Amino acid sequence: MKQRAEPEGGVLYLVGTPIGHLGDLSPRARALLIAVDTIACEDTRHSGQLLSALGSTARRCSFHQHNTHGRIPQLLEELSNGHSVAVISDAGLPGISDPGEDLVAAARNAGHAVICIPGPCAATTALVSSGLPSGRFCFEGFLPAKGRERRDRLAAVVTEQRTTVLYEAPHRLMKLLDELHELCGGERALQVTRELTKRHEQQVGPTVTAALEHFQKHPPQGEFTLVLGGAPEQEQISLNDEQCRQQLAMRIEQGMKPADAAKDLARSAGRSRRELYALLHEQQNQAD
Ligand code: SAM
Repeated sequence: MKQRAEPEGGVLYLVGTPIGHLGDLSPRARALLIAVDTIACEDTRHSGQLLSALGSTARRCSFHQHNTHGRIPQLLEELSNGHSVAVISDAGLPGISDPGEDLVAAARNAGHAVICIPGPCAATTALVSSGLPSGRFCFEGFLPAKGRERRDRLAAVVTEQRTTVLYEAPHRLMKLLDELHELCGGERALQVTRELTKRHEQQVGPTVTAALEHFQKHPPQGEFTLVLGGAPEQEQISLNDEQCRQQLAMRIEQGMKPADAAKDLARSAGRSRRELYALLHEQQNQAD
Protein backbone atom coordinates (compact mmCIF):
# COMPACT_ATOMS: atom_id res chain seq x y z
CA MET A 1 0.00 0.00 0.00
CA LYS A 2 1.32 3.43 -0.91
CA GLN A 3 1.97 5.56 2.20
CA ARG A 4 1.50 9.30 2.39
CA ALA A 5 4.70 11.35 2.36
CA GLU A 6 5.93 12.39 5.81
CA PRO A 7 6.31 14.82 7.38
CA GLU A 8 3.49 17.04 6.17
CA GLY A 9 3.41 20.73 7.02
CA GLY A 10 0.91 21.76 9.70
CA VAL A 11 0.84 18.27 11.26
CA LEU A 12 1.77 17.42 14.86
CA TYR A 13 3.53 14.05 15.12
CA LEU A 14 3.69 12.13 18.41
CA VAL A 15 6.73 9.91 18.07
CA GLY A 16 7.41 6.86 20.22
CA THR A 17 11.09 6.46 21.18
CA PRO A 18 12.85 3.54 22.96
CA ILE A 19 12.36 2.86 26.70
CA GLY A 20 15.82 1.31 26.82
CA HIS A 21 16.87 -0.69 23.76
CA LEU A 22 17.85 1.71 20.94
CA GLY A 23 16.98 -0.97 18.37
CA ASP A 24 13.33 -0.35 19.22
CA LEU A 25 13.24 2.97 17.35
CA SER A 26 11.18 2.24 14.24
CA PRO A 27 12.46 3.09 10.74
CA ARG A 28 9.42 5.35 10.33
CA ALA A 29 10.18 7.23 13.57
CA ARG A 30 13.83 7.59 12.51
CA ALA A 31 12.92 9.01 9.08
CA LEU A 32 10.45 11.45 10.57
CA LEU A 33 12.84 12.73 13.25
CA ILE A 34 15.38 13.43 10.50
CA ALA A 35 12.97 15.21 8.16
CA VAL A 36 10.64 17.14 10.50
CA ASP A 37 11.05 20.92 10.98
CA THR A 38 10.86 21.12 14.79
CA ILE A 39 11.18 18.56 17.58
CA ALA A 40 9.72 19.39 20.99
CA CYS A 41 11.73 17.31 23.48
CA GLU A 42 10.95 16.70 27.14
CA ASP A 43 14.67 17.16 27.80
CA THR A 44 16.74 18.52 24.91
CA ARG A 45 20.02 17.26 26.38
CA HIS A 46 18.70 13.73 26.96
CA SER A 47 17.06 13.45 23.52
CA GLY A 48 19.99 15.30 21.93
CA GLN A 49 22.07 12.13 22.12
CA LEU A 50 19.49 10.10 20.22
CA LEU A 51 18.83 12.85 17.66
CA SER A 52 22.51 13.52 17.00
CA ALA A 53 23.14 9.79 16.57
CA LEU A 54 20.39 9.79 13.91
CA GLY A 55 21.90 12.81 12.16
CA SER A 56 18.76 14.87 12.75
CA THR A 57 19.35 18.59 12.28
CA ALA A 58 15.73 19.57 13.04
CA ARG A 59 15.27 22.58 15.31
CA ARG A 60 14.91 21.37 18.91
CA CYS A 61 13.00 23.03 21.72
CA SER A 62 12.26 21.98 25.25
CA PHE A 63 8.73 20.94 26.15
CA HIS A 64 8.19 19.75 29.71
CA GLN A 65 5.72 20.03 32.57
CA HIS A 66 7.13 23.41 33.70
CA ASN A 67 6.88 25.23 30.35
CA THR A 68 3.84 23.54 28.80
CA HIS A 69 1.58 26.59 28.92
CA GLY A 70 4.10 29.00 27.43
CA ARG A 71 5.27 26.55 24.79
CA ILE A 72 1.92 25.34 23.44
CA PRO A 73 0.98 28.66 21.72
CA GLN A 74 4.45 28.80 20.10
CA LEU A 75 4.14 25.26 18.75
CA LEU A 76 0.61 25.93 17.50
CA GLU A 77 1.92 28.98 15.68
CA GLU A 78 4.56 26.86 13.98
CA LEU A 79 1.85 24.46 12.85
CA SER A 80 -0.26 27.39 11.58
CA ASN A 81 2.78 28.61 9.61
CA GLY A 82 2.85 25.29 7.79
CA HIS A 83 5.77 23.71 9.66
CA SER A 84 5.79 20.11 10.81
CA VAL A 85 6.31 19.50 14.54
CA ALA A 86 7.26 16.28 16.35
CA VAL A 87 6.97 15.74 20.07
CA ILE A 88 9.10 13.16 21.87
CA SER A 89 9.54 12.32 25.57
CA ASP A 90 12.58 11.04 27.44
CA ALA A 91 11.39 7.50 26.78
CA GLY A 92 8.40 5.76 25.29
CA LEU A 93 5.17 7.14 24.02
CA PRO A 94 4.63 10.86 24.61
CA GLY A 95 1.32 11.50 26.32
CA ILE A 96 1.49 8.49 28.67
CA SER A 97 2.52 10.05 32.02
CA ASP A 98 4.56 12.47 29.92
CA PRO A 99 4.05 15.92 28.40
CA GLY A 100 2.10 15.67 25.17
CA GLU A 101 -1.49 15.28 26.30
CA ASP A 102 -2.22 19.04 26.58
CA LEU A 103 -0.44 19.81 23.31
CA VAL A 104 -2.48 17.19 21.45
CA ALA A 105 -5.73 18.60 22.88
CA ALA A 106 -4.70 22.15 21.93
CA ALA A 107 -3.64 21.11 18.41
CA ARG A 108 -6.93 19.27 17.84
CA ASN A 109 -8.94 22.21 19.18
CA ALA A 110 -7.09 24.49 16.77
CA GLY A 111 -7.97 22.15 13.88
CA HIS A 112 -4.48 20.72 13.24
CA ALA A 113 -3.97 17.09 12.29
CA VAL A 114 -2.27 14.90 14.91
CA ILE A 115 -0.57 11.67 13.87
CA CYS A 116 1.04 9.17 16.24
CA ILE A 117 4.05 7.20 15.09
CA PRO A 118 3.67 4.40 17.62
CA GLY A 119 6.55 2.93 19.55
CA PRO A 120 7.51 1.30 22.84
CA CYS A 121 5.47 1.99 25.96
CA ALA A 122 6.48 0.69 29.40
CA ALA A 123 2.86 0.09 30.47
CA THR A 124 1.88 -2.22 27.62
CA THR A 125 5.30 -3.90 27.48
CA ALA A 126 5.00 -4.77 31.19
CA LEU A 127 1.38 -5.85 30.86
CA VAL A 128 1.83 -8.30 28.00
CA SER A 129 4.91 -9.90 29.57
CA SER A 130 3.37 -10.24 33.06
CA GLY A 131 1.27 -13.34 32.43
CA LEU A 132 -1.70 -11.57 34.07
CA PRO A 133 -5.02 -11.12 32.25
CA SER A 134 -4.66 -8.46 29.57
CA GLY A 135 -8.07 -8.68 27.90
CA ARG A 136 -9.32 -5.93 30.20
CA PHE A 137 -6.91 -3.74 32.13
CA CYS A 138 -6.58 -0.27 33.54
CA PHE A 139 -3.66 2.12 33.70
CA GLU A 140 -3.08 4.25 36.79
CA GLY A 141 0.35 5.71 35.98
CA PHE A 142 1.98 7.31 39.03
CA LEU A 143 -0.22 7.41 42.14
CA PRO A 144 -0.48 10.76 43.96
CA ALA A 145 2.54 11.04 46.29
CA LYS A 146 0.68 11.30 49.62
CA GLY A 147 -2.36 12.30 51.64
CA ARG A 148 -5.98 11.64 50.98
CA GLU A 149 -5.63 11.61 47.21
CA ARG A 150 -3.17 8.73 47.49
CA ARG A 151 -5.32 6.82 49.98
CA ASP A 152 -8.42 7.15 47.81
CA ARG A 153 -6.59 6.11 44.66
CA LEU A 154 -5.00 3.11 46.43
CA ALA A 155 -8.40 2.04 47.75
CA ALA A 156 -9.73 2.15 44.18
CA VAL A 157 -6.69 0.25 42.83
CA VAL A 158 -6.89 -2.63 45.33
CA THR A 159 -10.60 -3.17 44.77
CA GLU A 160 -10.34 -2.98 40.96
CA GLN A 161 -11.18 -6.29 39.31
CA ARG A 162 -9.21 -5.66 36.14
CA THR A 163 -5.42 -5.97 35.96
CA THR A 164 -3.89 -2.61 36.88
CA VAL A 165 -0.63 -1.13 35.57
CA LEU A 166 1.26 1.37 37.73
CA TYR A 167 4.47 3.35 37.29
CA GLU A 168 6.68 3.93 40.32
CA ALA A 169 10.00 5.62 41.04
CA PRO A 170 12.67 3.38 42.63
CA HIS A 171 12.86 5.38 45.88
CA ARG A 172 9.10 4.93 46.42
CA LEU A 173 8.78 1.28 45.43
CA MET A 174 9.07 -0.18 48.95
CA LYS A 175 6.39 2.18 50.26
CA LEU A 176 4.02 1.12 47.49
CA LEU A 177 4.73 -2.59 48.07
CA ASP A 178 4.08 -2.14 51.82
CA GLU A 179 0.80 -0.39 51.10
CA LEU A 180 -0.30 -3.08 48.64
CA HIS A 181 0.60 -5.73 51.19
CA GLU A 182 -1.45 -4.00 53.86
CA LEU A 183 -4.47 -3.36 51.65
CA CYS A 184 -4.76 -6.42 49.46
CA GLY A 185 -2.73 -9.01 51.33
CA GLY A 186 0.44 -10.84 50.35
CA GLU A 187 -1.14 -13.38 48.02
CA ARG A 188 -2.45 -10.95 45.40
CA ALA A 189 -0.79 -11.52 42.02
CA LEU A 190 1.88 -8.95 41.19
CA GLN A 191 4.69 -8.71 38.66
CA VAL A 192 7.18 -5.92 39.20
CA THR A 193 9.02 -5.34 35.94
CA ARG A 194 12.39 -3.65 36.10
CA GLU A 195 14.52 -2.12 33.34
CA LEU A 196 12.31 -3.33 30.47
CA THR A 197 14.17 -3.82 27.17
CA LYS A 198 17.52 -3.12 28.88
CA ARG A 199 20.39 -5.45 29.63
CA HIS A 200 19.26 -6.11 33.22
CA GLU A 201 15.56 -6.53 32.45
CA GLN A 202 13.87 -8.44 35.26
CA GLN A 203 10.42 -9.63 36.33
CA VAL A 204 9.82 -10.08 40.04
CA GLY A 205 6.68 -11.82 41.34
CA PRO A 206 4.36 -13.67 41.27
CA THR A 207 2.77 -12.19 44.43
CA VAL A 208 2.95 -9.04 46.54
CA THR A 209 4.81 -10.98 49.26
CA ALA A 210 7.35 -12.40 46.81
CA ALA A 211 8.08 -8.94 45.40
CA LEU A 212 8.32 -7.37 48.85
CA GLU A 213 10.74 -10.04 50.06
CA HIS A 214 12.86 -9.74 46.93
CA PHE A 215 13.25 -5.97 47.16
CA GLN A 216 13.91 -6.10 50.93
CA LYS A 217 17.02 -8.11 49.98
CA HIS A 218 17.83 -6.20 46.76
CA PRO A 219 17.20 -2.46 47.17
CA PRO A 220 15.29 -1.12 44.13
CA GLN A 221 17.39 0.48 41.40
CA GLY A 222 16.38 1.35 37.84
CA GLU A 223 12.96 1.88 36.31
CA PHE A 224 9.88 0.02 37.47
CA THR A 225 6.41 -0.77 36.15
CA LEU A 226 4.04 -2.81 38.30
CA VAL A 227 1.29 -5.09 37.05
CA LEU A 228 -1.20 -5.92 39.78
CA GLY A 229 -3.70 -8.75 39.42
CA GLY A 230 -7.36 -7.76 39.76
CA ALA A 231 -9.29 -8.16 43.02
CA PRO A 232 -11.31 -11.34 43.28
CA GLU A 233 -15.03 -10.59 43.34
CA GLN A 234 -15.52 -11.07 47.08
CA GLU A 235 -12.72 -8.54 47.86
CA GLN A 236 -14.69 -6.00 45.91
CA ILE A 237 -17.19 -5.86 48.75
CA SER A 238 -15.12 -4.22 51.46
CA LEU A 239 -11.97 -3.95 53.51
CA ASN A 240 -11.98 -6.22 56.59
CA ASP A 241 -12.12 -4.93 60.20
CA GLU A 242 -8.37 -5.06 60.72
CA GLN A 243 -7.65 -3.20 57.48
CA CYS A 244 -10.27 -0.59 58.45
CA ARG A 245 -8.69 -0.12 61.90
CA GLN A 246 -5.29 0.47 60.26
CA GLN A 247 -6.75 2.92 57.78
CA LEU A 248 -8.61 4.79 60.53
CA ALA A 249 -5.51 4.97 62.72
CA MET A 250 -3.49 6.33 59.79
CA ARG A 251 -6.03 9.11 59.18
CA ILE A 252 -6.22 10.05 62.89
CA GLU A 253 -2.42 10.11 63.14
CA GLN A 254 -2.44 12.53 60.22
CA GLY A 255 -4.68 14.89 62.22
CA MET A 256 -8.26 13.96 61.24
CA LYS A 257 -11.00 13.90 63.89
CA PRO A 258 -12.37 10.35 64.45
CA ALA A 259 -15.76 11.24 62.91
CA ASP A 260 -14.08 12.70 59.83
CA ALA A 261 -11.77 9.68 59.54
CA ALA A 262 -14.80 7.33 59.58
CA LYS A 263 -16.63 9.46 57.01
CA ASP A 264 -13.59 9.65 54.79
CA LEU A 265 -12.88 5.92 54.89
CA ALA A 266 -16.53 4.96 54.36
CA ARG A 267 -16.34 6.53 50.91
CA SER A 268 -13.65 4.17 49.67
CA ALA A 269 -13.86 1.06 51.88
CA GLY A 270 -17.35 -0.16 51.09
CA ARG A 271 -18.28 0.09 54.83
CA SER A 272 -20.82 2.34 56.48
CA ARG A 273 -19.75 5.30 58.58
CA ARG A 274 -21.61 3.83 61.58
CA GLU A 275 -19.74 0.52 61.34
CA LEU A 276 -16.42 2.31 61.19
CA TYR A 277 -17.29 4.54 64.10
CA ALA A 278 -18.23 1.43 66.10
CA LEU A 279 -14.82 -0.09 65.30
CA LEU A 280 -13.15 3.04 66.65
CA HIS A 281 -15.22 2.89 69.85
CA GLU A 282 -14.42 -0.78 70.32
CA GLN A 283 -10.74 0.03 70.04
CA GLN A 284 -11.09 2.95 72.46
CA ASN A 285 -12.92 0.78 75.03
CA GLN A 286 -10.22 -1.89 74.79
CA ALA A 287 -7.55 0.74 75.37
CA ASP A 288 -9.33 2.18 78.52
N1 SAM B 1 5.76 7.66 28.29
C1 SAM B 1 6.48 6.56 28.86
C2 SAM B 1 5.96 5.25 28.29
O1 SAM B 1 5.49 5.22 27.19
O2 SAM B 1 6.09 4.22 28.92
C3 SAM B 1 6.54 6.56 30.35
C4 SAM B 1 7.09 7.82 30.93
S1 SAM B 1 6.92 7.89 32.63
C5 SAM B 1 7.41 9.57 32.94
C6 SAM B 1 8.36 7.09 33.18
C7 SAM B 1 8.00 5.82 33.98
O3 SAM B 1 7.73 4.76 33.06
C8 SAM B 1 9.15 5.34 34.83
O4 SAM B 1 9.19 6.00 36.07
C9 SAM B 1 8.81 3.87 34.99
O5 SAM B 1 7.80 3.69 35.96
C10 SAM B 1 8.23 3.55 33.61
N2 SAM B 1 9.31 3.07 32.72
C11 SAM B 1 9.93 3.76 31.73
N3 SAM B 1 10.89 3.00 31.16
C12 SAM B 1 10.86 1.81 31.79
C13 SAM B 1 11.59 0.60 31.66
N4 SAM B 1 12.57 0.48 30.75
N5 SAM B 1 11.28 -0.44 32.48
C14 SAM B 1 10.31 -0.34 33.39
N6 SAM B 1 9.57 0.77 33.56
C15 SAM B 1 9.84 1.84 32.78
